[in-house]
Amino acid sequence: MVKWDKEYHERTGKWRPLKEYSQKFVNGKRKYNWDDPVYQKKVHKHLESIQKECDSCGVYTLSNPCIHHLPDGYQNDMRRKSYYKKIKDERNAAYLAQTEQQDLASNA
Ligand SMILES: [Zn+2]
Repeated sequence: MVKWDKEYHERTGKWRPLKEYSQKFVNGKRKYNWDDPVYQKKVHKHLESIQKECDSCGVYTLSNPCIHHLPDGYQNDMRRKSYYKKIKDERNAAYLAQTEQQDLASNA
């Protein structure tokens, strides 16, 4: 019977068979595959413990970096893009509101 990867399903909404990871030991230390969920959790925990500071946002952790400190990657590019688009839209809206007021003032 096939076991399904529930953790993957929760993250992505997709199903894939659960991968069995063999236990390897080197010099008495457990070695993990890079995509082993146990290993990924360990990495995440480690990144969470590393705190850095951003001039605009304050303290952030490496597991959840702020918008100014995202590493490269497609998903992060998308996040950056939507962030700067939001700023631009807000600026445009403020500019439009300002010119509208000026128009009203000059017509009066
Ligand atoms: Zn920041």
